[in-house]
Amino acid sequence: AKAAGRNAICFFRPGMQAEADKRLDMEKDLRLAIARDQLKLFFQAQIDENGEVCGAEGLLRWEHPQYGLIAPDRFIPVAEETGLILPIGEWVLQTACEYITKWSKGELSQSLSHIAVNVSPWQFRQPDFPLQVEKILARTGTDPRRLGLELTEGVVIDNVADTADKMASFKAIGVKISIDDFGTGYSSLSYLKKLPLDILKIDRSFIEEVTVDESNAAIVGTIIAMADHLGLEVIAEGVETQEQLEFLYNSGCKRYQGYFFSKPLPVEQFELFVSDSIRR
Ligand code: C2E
Ligand code: CA
Ligand code: CA
Ligand code: CA
Repeated sequence: AKAAGRNAICFFRPGMQAEADKRLDMEKDLRLAIARDQLKLFFQAQIDENGEVCGAEGLLRWEHPQYGLIAPDRFIPVAEETGLILPIGEWVLQTACEYITKWSKGELSQSLSHIAVNVSPWQFRQPDFPLQVEKILARTGTDPRRLGLELTEGVVIDNVADTADKMASFKAIGVKISIDDFGTGYSSLSYLKKLPLDILKIDRSFIEEVTVDESNAAIVGTIIAMADHLGLEVIAEGVETQEQLEFLYNSGCKRYQGYFFSKPLPVEQFELFVSDSIRR
């Protein structure tokens, strides 16, 4: 009787069924996306204080046959709910490592000495994740020191002991670990001190208003000073203007990523962007 009662008040809005159908469609399509070669890894350059390319971040795109290019914010959540993030994450690592190996040999070798990819929490929590990465590195002949993994603060706080263990095993082989979207989560100073991290990426939301909002400017200044004390590198993400760049430079942040320099680009265009920047 109770269940029936619950059913009685469980009515659908007209749009809901359509939304649910669309989600199922997406799940079905996403399952096939890897096999059908529809996933693409774009790259966005990272720039050092001399204005030179010093690395890049790999960012996933889905080239859907009907809907065109789909941004990760639209399908990563579905991938996470369905577990598809595991094969997708493995594809991202494998693909990134293939490019890293290719770029480590040619004229882009110096400029692209560090390529980072995003790792989803569920992927990172897999007990065999470090082993999986090591296998991919070996299979693709990739120098581990050229690979970076970007994790969000959520992963870090979730299980500090496990996170610290995994990070230590990456540190031992030279893979660099970044904390992504830094400042938006809840990680405390004491966690940061305990973990073998390499890089903090200051979240775009702070950079956006850094030249108009004094409290954001103070937060960014504090993050940079703190990173400095802890011996960590900082990268500012979402740098869009000269003013933001100048503020960051004067605050001691020496690495930047954002539309001011370049959007994430498909591989061919990215390679052209980097080789042009070498000649400039
Ligand atoms: P994220 O890791 O914080 O990546 C930065 C996002 O900011 C990217 O969005 C990038 O295109 C965008 N961006 C970079 N510079 C600027 C700028 O100057 N202005 C503005 N407005 N935006 C800028 P994108 O590529 O749409 O990726 C969104 C998120 O999806 C990423 O945020 C990341 O959390 C996730 N993601 C992307 N690729 C992967 C992946 O391979 N695996 C996993 N698990 N997540 C991924
Ligand atoms: Ca990232
Ligand atoms: Ca980020
Ligand atoms: Ca973000």
